[in-house]
Amino acid sequence: MSFPVYLSGSWVLLALLVTIIYGGNVAQRHPDLGPTVAYLIGFGFVVCLGVSVLLHELGHALTCRYHGIGVRAITLELLGGYTVMEREAPRPGVEATIALAGPAVSLLLGAAGVAVVVAVPDGSIAWELAFQFAFSNLVVAVFNILPGLPLDGGRALRAVVWAITHDRYRGTWAAGWAGRVVAVIALLGAMVGYTARVLNLFGVVFALMVVGVLWAGATQAVQFGRLGRRLPSIRVVDLVRTAIGVPSQTPLAEALRRADEARATAVLVTDASGRPVGLVNDHAVAAMPTERRPWVAVDAVARSLSPGLVLPVDLTGEDVLRAVQAHPASEYLVVSGDTVVGVLRAADLASALTSRPPRSV
Ligand SMILES: [Zn+2]
Repeated sequence: MSFPVYLSGSWVLLALLVTIIYGGNVAQRHPDLGPTVAYLIGFGFVVCLGVSVLLHELGHALTCRYHGIGVRAITLELLGGYTVMEREAPRPGVEATIALAGPAVSLLLGAAGVAVVVAVPDGSIAWELAFQFAFSNLVVAVFNILPGLPLDGGRALRAVVWAITHDRYRGTWAAGWAGRVVAVIALLGAMVGYTARVLNLFGVVFALMVVGVLWAGATQAVQFGRLGRRLPSIRVVDLVRTAIGVPSQTPLAEALRRADEARATAVLVTDASGRPVGLVNDHAVAAMPTERRPWVAVDAVARSLSPGLVLPVDLTGEDVLRAVQAHPASEYLVVSGDTVVGVLRAADLASALTSRPPRSV
């Protein structure tokens, strides 16, 4: 088993902030150490946080492996990370186990650290190191267990809603909203902490960065959940546009005139035997000045047809999204067996997925 481990770019910035905050704190508590040693201890705390987050992510990754889900990579952030899985968990129970494995590792390591803190002489270097280790792991555990996406607690909450409603996307949507609530509470907490002088300016900047990451992740989850909930109702047959075929080398103006006459909203390029070989791209047509259209061949604004751009008309739900993601394009040929049905535009699919559903009373 092997997978790469990355450090995110924001990690360096946050590491600097934490070194300054924690180093300043040590300098205040131990004026005898001098600023260099104090900030070195501050940096030691950052290293501890990094190791804690790595062990936390390994908790997720190894649980994935245990359930037969491959791991692509681990990316470390300061207070958490990402374990990129090869596929999604198949059941709510597996999702919850993978989500909680990380915080469980952090909690166990934190508890071990606390045991050492209690055992060694107060204020010694060993005590300081054990304290850092215990503190980082407990911070990582508590932060990640907050019940909102993109945090582990949010994934566990998603699994619970998924198990109750039998709808993974409803779970993502609900846990995304919970994540927004967590972000707002964290923001209020940072403001109260600053007013009460518990947090200094660096602390507030750090908190605001964390709140920003939380809010962005939560919003993405809400949108993805909303999109996914609409997926089952998506059918290619409802979205297909009427298309006409024109022979290769037909002038674009003539092709558009024929389409207009036939009340078709999509154009195919065909070969001598009438077989479709290209799909006219709407944006390319729009970008072509009207006065040039009689002089350019329709082929100039068409994408040649490849097997991935052909979809069966009876495709529905997640299969539509999977087919489109496998071969990203702006137009697809829709067929029923050997018969051409029409054209699916990716833009039509996107608006069907993102428009608000009609409200039911
Ligand atoms: Zn985690």
